[in-house]
Amino acid sequence: MSTNLDALKKREEALLCRTYGRYPLAVKHASGARLYDFDGREYVDLLAGIAVTNVGHCRPELADVAAEQARKLVHVSNLFYQEEQLVLAEKLLATNHFTKVFFCNSGAEANEAAIKLARRYAQRVQNRDAGEIITFTGAFHGRTLATVAATGQAKFQDGFAPIPQGFTQVEWGNLDALRAAIGPQTAAVMVEVIQGEGGVRPMSPEFAEGVQALCREKGVLFIVDEIQTGLCRTGRFWAFQHFGLQPDIITSAKALANGLPMGAMMTSDEVSRGFEPGSHATTFGAGATLSAVAAKVLDIMQEEKLAERAEDVGNYAMGLFRAMGERLPGTIAEVRGKGLMIGVVLAFPGKDIWQALMDRGFVLNLTQERVLRLVPPLIIAREDLESFAAALEELLQAHVAA
Ligand SMILES: *Cc1c(COP(=O)(O)O)cnc(C)c1O
Repeated sequence: MSTNLDALKKREEALLCRTYGRYPLAVKHASGARLYDFDGREYVDLLAGIAVTNVGHCRPELADVAAEQARKLVHVSNLFYQEEQLVLAEKLLATNHFTKVFFCNSGAEANEAAIKLARRYAQRVQNRDAGEIITFTGAFHGRTLATVAATGQAKFQDGFAPIPQGFTQVEWGNLDALRAAIGPQTAAVMVEVIQGEGGVRPMSPEFAEGVQALCREKGVLFIVDEIQTGLCRTGRFWAFQHFGLQPDIITSAKALANGLPMGAMMTSDEVSRGFEPGSHATTFGAGATLSAVAAKVLDIMQEEKLAERAEDVGNYAMGLFRAMGERLPGTIAEVRGKGLMIGVVLAFPGKDIWQALMDRGFVLNLTQERVLRLVPPLIIAREDLESFAAALEELLQAHVAA
């Protein structure tokens, strides 16, 4: 370990709550799809801060917008009308079929807003005594108490009892189980179109259409968590658009302000009737500076056609990995995902390969022990993916030989 990294590690141990198992890397600055550590070493970024810096790190146009707006107005509270929020809302709602948005500060908060709206819509608009939210095994919806309940995984709930009531999980992909679970107590079904934390697991078209059809048949709301999959990541502006779905609510966050904290929940005029003045709020949500930055992020995504680019470059990269799997049988079990949300599923636990890739200057994430998760900035060069594939192939060859 470098002395710089070692010194930071010791300082941190004395200062911060121990909530993170850190990677052995401290990033000093970043640009485009590159990270630089405290020793000046360069890394190819295949993680983008976990699907956050979609338009690339430290773009000068975003820095300019932030600086300019910060000299005019940063915060005034949601007690006041703010034009920057409306500019952002118009741009955001032009990307999908929704007509109303609630802004907040993170993914978990966007999901909290969705859960609260679904319950209040059922109870105050539909006059139904319903509050249950159904989610799926392998889901990840956040770390607040309600969203760890929605996430439903023991490892995220350990030691936090009592976990809030009103959440039920059914098996991923199992429409019969979903049909059996939906009852008069159900307010909504919430799903990720591609499970991220759960190991880059896409819904099949039949499953996606089946979930929506069951929600319609039973009269419950259909919520899609687009926090990781949204904002051009998967080759569409929103991942639900791959299947022509019409969810009642979607949630967004991660890439919305390209690294500054912002979340959003979008819905229809009808479902938004569940909220009235005073029913939900946040101090910071869509402050002027964040809104101006997020609006510019959306402009960049449109101007640079980043959804199309994610699809092209993602298909190219998945092709490289699939061909590698055929050349080296027994190393890659599956390559899955859409656009630039890619899971390379190894046939064996991947910790050593992941570490060796980091040593060679490639930053990515390992989920579910054997899934190499690639969610790079959408502006990444094909050459970066080629050099990553070459490094991975060398390591897999060595693994086979050993
Ligand atoms: C990251 C993520 C969240 C939580 O977002 P935070 O901003 O960390 O609260 C929720 N759902 C999905 C699918 C995510 O990827």
